[in-house]
Amino acid sequence: MSAADDETRVGLDAAAAHADERRAAPRVVVAGPCEIVVARYAGYCYGVERALRLTEDALAGAERPVATLGPIIHNPSVVEALADRGVGVVDAVEEAQGGTLVVRTHGVAPEELAGADRRRLHVIDATCPFVAVAQRKARALHEAGYTVVILGEHDHPEVVGLQGFAGGEAIVVADPDDAPLDRLEGRKVGVVVQTTQAHDALARLAATLAPLARELLIYNTVCDATEKRQSAACELAAQVDVVIVVGGRNSANTMRLAQLCRGIEPRTHHIETADELRDEWVAEARRVGVTAGASTPDDEIEATVARLQQVCGTREAE
Ligand code: SF4
Repeated sequence: MSAADDETRVGLDAAAAHADERRAAPRVVVAGPCEIVVARYAGYCYGVERALRLTEDALAGAERPVATLGPIIHNPSVVEALADRGVGVVDAVEEAQGGTLVVRTHGVAPEELAGADRRRLHVIDATCPFVAVAQRKARALHEAGYTVVILGEHDHPEVVGLQGFAGGEAIVVADPDDAPLDRLEGRKVGVVVQTTQAHDALARLAATLAPLARELLIYNTVCDATEKRQSAACELAAQVDVVIVVGGRNSANTMRLAQLCRGIEPRTHHIETADELRDEWVAEARRVGVTAGASTPDDEIEATVARLQQVCGTREAE
C-alpha cells in the first residue's frame, strides 16, 4: 500500500470504529420475567450510514430527479420510504432520466461513472470508502502488470466494480479451494478482497498462492464490520433461548447472521419488520436475543424491542 493509502485506511478504521462506538456494548432491557438482549454492533455499519446521509443530502439540495443506481441498501422499508420522498431506483445508468444519480456503497466500475458523465448526470458517489480503497488497489495492481485475483462472490456488484478497476481482466475466486492454479503458476499475482469476506478465507487463499506465484502481493481490503457483527451475533446466540434477527430478506449479511445464529441456537427467527414477530416464539423464553444486519435501520430494531417488551412484559413472573 502506498503511504497515502496506509493513512487513508488507518483513518477509515478509526472513523468506522467511532461510528460503531454507540453499538459496541450489548443492551439489556428487562420485560416481565424476560431479558431482551440486543447484540453488540447490531444495525447500520459506517458505510451504510454514510450512504444514507449522502442520499438525504441529495434530496435536500441536488438537482432532481434523484435516483440511486440499484437499491441504496438491502432493506425494502428504507427503499420504499425514500421512494415516497422522491428517490427512484434505476438498474443501469442509461435508465436515469437526468438529474442526480447516487452510487451506492458497493461502488461501480469506472466505465459506469464515465457513462453517467456522458449523460451529464450529477453523480453523488456513496461508494463506501473501504470499497474505494480496494478499487484503487485493484487498479494499481493491474497497471503494475499483476494478474489480479479478487477474492469474492461472482456477480456481486462490489466485485463487478472491482473487476472494472482491474481492467476487466481479474480472476474472481469465490472459494480458495477453487482458485485456477494453472492460470496463476509462475506469474506476478496481486490479490484484493471483497470487503465483506472473512479473514480466514484470505489466509487460505494466501497459503494456496504463495508456493506457486512468482511474486505475490496481497492487499487485505477486508472491512471488519461484517466479522464484528457476525461474532457478536454468535456470542449472543450462545447466551439466549431465542434469537430474533431483524433485516431485509434480500440482505445477504442479514441472512448470514440468521444462518450463523441458527447453527448455535435453532430457535432463531428472521423477520423483516416487528409485526412479523409471533408471540409463541418467545412464550417460554427467559432471555431473548435481538440482532440485525448492517442494512437494518435503528427504528426497526427499536420497534422489535418494543414489540418484545409488550409480549414478554404481559407474562406473569415465573
Ligand atoms: Fe463499508 Fe461494506 Fe464495511 Fe459497511 S460492510 S463499512 S458498507 S465496506
